[in-house]
Amino acid sequence: MKVVFHEKFKCSDYALGGASAPGRMESIITALKTDGYIVVSPEPASYEDLLLAHTEAYIADIRKDRKLFEMACLSAGGAALAAQMAFNMDPAFACIRPPGHHASRDKTWDYCAFCNMGIALLKLKAEGFITSAFVLDFDAHTGDGTINVLSQWPEAKVFNPMAHNRKDYIKVIEDYISNVRYVDIVGVSAGFDTYEKDLGKKLETTDFYLIGRLMKHLAKRVCRNRRFAILEGGYYIPDLGKNVAAFCHGFN
Ligand SMILES: [Zn+2]
Repeated sequence: MKVVFHEKFKCSDYALGGASAPGRMESIITALKTDGYIVVSPEPASYEDLLLAHTEAYIADIRKDRKLFEMACLSAGGAALAAQMAFNMDPAFACIRPPGHHASRDKTWDYCAFCNMGIALLKLKAEGFITSAFVLDFDAHTGDGTINVLSQWPEAKVFNPMAHNRKDYIKVIEDYISNVRYVDIVGVSAGFDTYEKDLGKKLETTDFYLIGRLMKHLAKRVCRNRRFAILEGGYYIPDLGKNVAAFCHGFN
């Protein structure tokens, strides 16, 4: 498995709020480099790529903020690269920001700009590589943007697990994916704010490992191992690196 990352993602002044917090990307990339993953750099998504998921008016609105727009294009490009690598049997985790799962076709909220997962999958579809996909979004917040952007594509299924405790959360994922049949690719919107010390107050570090492993096994069963994951939320910086590393360990 490889890691998609660009040094520019360390820049924290492109926006305000938790996703752009200083030190956030450093904590993750330091942990992943320690684990020996090869890092590859993405190119920014093109205007045509953005149009796969968003309206012209929405893109123009984001573009008014030059710094945010540049970072958001690079983030979407990172997701697209991870998906392309996954399709080519080279699993990948994209360590990117801003996140994207709250970005719908024509509006957004929280820290999201462009729908990174939606763009990545719709690009593979537009290029004729895939006709179906399964997405697990384990962020503490429902990925309403991804659901909206992929809503016109019935063969793309998005699952946001809900449960009151960590044990049930893993069980809910296991039960759901046991019914997933053949798809062309498995994508994971990896939000680490489900962590016990983060906003979601639920999962332990070992649970991220378990989720990564479940997704790896799912990909092995349903799509000849074609799998990728992209970073969404996760704001408890002291443990963020180890949590992402745990997920990647299971996913690898
Ligand atoms: Zn979140």
